[in-house]
Amino acid sequence: MGSYPICVKCLKSKVLCPDCQQRYDQGIICCEDVCASRTLFSCDQQSPGFIHAVPTRDYVLVIAQEDSVGDVIGESGRNLKSLACSLNCDVKVVGCEDFKKLVIALLAPARVKGFNRVLTGEGELTRIRIASSEAKLLRMSFDDLQKVISAATDEAVELVLD
Ligand SMILES: [Zn+2]
Repeated sequence: MGSYPICVKCLKSKVLCPDCQQRYDQGIICCEDVCASRTLFSCDQQSPGFIHAVPTRDYVLVIAQEDSVGDVIGESGRNLKSLACSLNCDVKVVGCEDFKKLVIALLAPARVKGFNRVLTGEGELTRIRIASSEAKLLRMSFDDLQKVISAATDEAVELVLD
């Protein structure tokens, strides 16, 4: 069984344990994380697990380990349908092997021109440069993308047009 944003006890329970509740209150996990975890756990015996479920304007993005993307989607998209049904929203699954790969997948078809580590007053962040001419290809707003990338990678990021 894979790991989930919530603990094993909470997968089987209707309420959150104090630990998970605290992480929920702190915004580390969101209601989509909780709902998608319980759904995937109950609809698939293999229970592939995932890293984060992040709501965007048009769909919920489920970020999974690279090698479990197919299992999360399920045979003929079975799990994906269950997830979409319980989240009442379209669901997309993306694999996350490493930071750059995930960012490139999230921003595609727009191309990433480069990554830079930048030191700011609030600490270090990764600046992601996107070609200005391709901004219209982005599927989410800048705000949503920054939120998704930060949530999925635990890295502070800044998107800029270049
Ligand atoms: Zn818990």
